[in-house]
Formats: sequence, structure tokens, C-alpha cells
Amino acid sequence: METKDPWKDKLTAEQYDICRMKGTEPPFTGAYYNFKEKGVYRCLCCGAQLFSSETKFDSGTGWPSFWEPILDNVKTEKDTSYGMLRVEVLCKNCNAHLGHVFEDGPNPTGLRYCINSASLKFEK
Ligand SMILES: [Zn+2]
Repeated sequence: METKDPWKDKLTAEQYDICRMKGTEPPFTGAYYNFKEKGVYRCLCCGAQLFSSETKFDSGTGWPSFWEPILDNVKTEKDTSYGMLRVEVLCKNCNAHLGHVFEDGPNPTGLRYCINSASLKFEK
């Protein structure tokens, strides 16, 4: 018998591809790359609080970028897919793929969390 991933019913095809299959949305297409309201970004899948608008900055990359996550709810893992060494960012609670973190961000952390809009849900 085929086991069906329960996330398939809860997410759109694009959300499923990004959050559960580690896809990446095309730059400058997501809901939040140029979004400046104050509030908190939650995990689309489980609702955990992942990022605050206080740490969001305009990176010019076309993806929402943050210099620091809400640390307790985010984890990172080494990602060697596509022949690159990158650090993947995931929701600690439900393992949703969020994006990648790079070491070319602004102060105070010097980090750039490059996150897919499709894996986030903004709340004022
Ligand atoms: Zn989650």
C-alpha cells in the first residue's frame, strides 16, 4: 500500500515542493521579499515563530532575508546538494525546509538567513 504524505493535503503544490521537498521559490516572486510590516514570521506548516520583522533586512536577492532567527525554533544542517556546500535552515519543530544561511549578512551577526516566502506565514 502506498503511504501518502499528510502534508500533501495541507499545502499547495508550491508550498509542498519548498517546505517538504526542499525546493526554492524563484527570486522576486514571493509574498515577503519586499514586505516591511512589523510582526512575526511563523512556520507555514506548524505555526512556530521563526523570525521577527526586527531582524529582516533588504538583501536585494529577491528572497526575504533576516540576520537572526528566533533561535529556539530554527535549526541548521549541512547541505551538499547541487555540488555546493551550504547550510540549510529548517524549522526545529516540524522539519520544514525554510532556506539557507550565508555568512555575508549585516551586523550584528554577519549572517544572512535567505528564506522562502512560501515557507512563512506573517502575523502582525
Ligand atoms: Zn514548522
